[in-house]
Amino acid sequence: MSAIQIDTAETSALVLFSGGQDSATCLAWALERYGRVETVGFDYGQRHAVEMTARIKVRDGMVRVLAALAERLGPDHVIDLTGFGAIGETAMTTDRAIEIDARGLPTTFVPGRNLVFLTVGAALADRRGLDVLVGGMCETDFSGYPDCRRDTIDAMQSALSLGLDKPVPIETPLMALTKAQTWALADRIGGQALVDLIVEESHTCYRGERGERHGWGHGCGACPACELRAAGHAEWVAA
Ligand code: ZN
Repeated sequence: MSAIQIDTAETSALVLFSGGQDSATCLAWALERYGRVETVGFDYGQRHAVEMTARIKVRDGMVRVLAALAERLGPDHVIDLTGFGAIGETAMTTDRAIEIDARGLPTTFVPGRNLVFLTVGAALADRRGLDVLVGGMCETDFSGYPDCRRDTIDAMQSALSLGLDKPVPIETPLMALTKAQTWALADRIGGQALVDLIVEESHTCYRGERGERHGWGHGCGACPACELRAAGHAEWVAA
């Protein structure tokens, strides 16, 4: 299906913003592109509640680092989805081990998570008068979460556009990027200052640990999310 065409100069966006590396890069991408940008975070009882702190620090830092674009950044919204989190008990929200299930999916997979996020995000965007949803979903992730595929996003874009009776474009700027290319994108948009902000304040670790400060940021250094982030950073630095 073809993308919904939009004129970005007059366009506003809602960024699905968890405070991780990917959504931090998406926020910078959106600030560069759209005239007005708001952010939304979802509290679904994830074990890394530390994310909720990180997202505020990343947002505050973004205003400083991308000062020329700061006036575009509007309010932040936090939506309580703890009821949903209770349904989808996984290694993200409970104290289960991170392993692979019979479908080949890691136990960090929350069934339908991005479908719910996009639906709730579309409702919020409609109420806020925001035109576009921006999400950090990425097909190249190790985990192959089925709700991160562009096919899934295209289907959601169609369903939401029909259900809300208006175009609901969903932009996924990181969809085809490797983690190294995501670091490069941040560097292109905001230079070393933005890279430093993402390294220092964004949170990716599945275990919710800040841990020691590695070259790629804070985290346990051993979970799949930390390993992916570390490997991507090393590849980008070496390039
Ligand atoms: Zn970790």
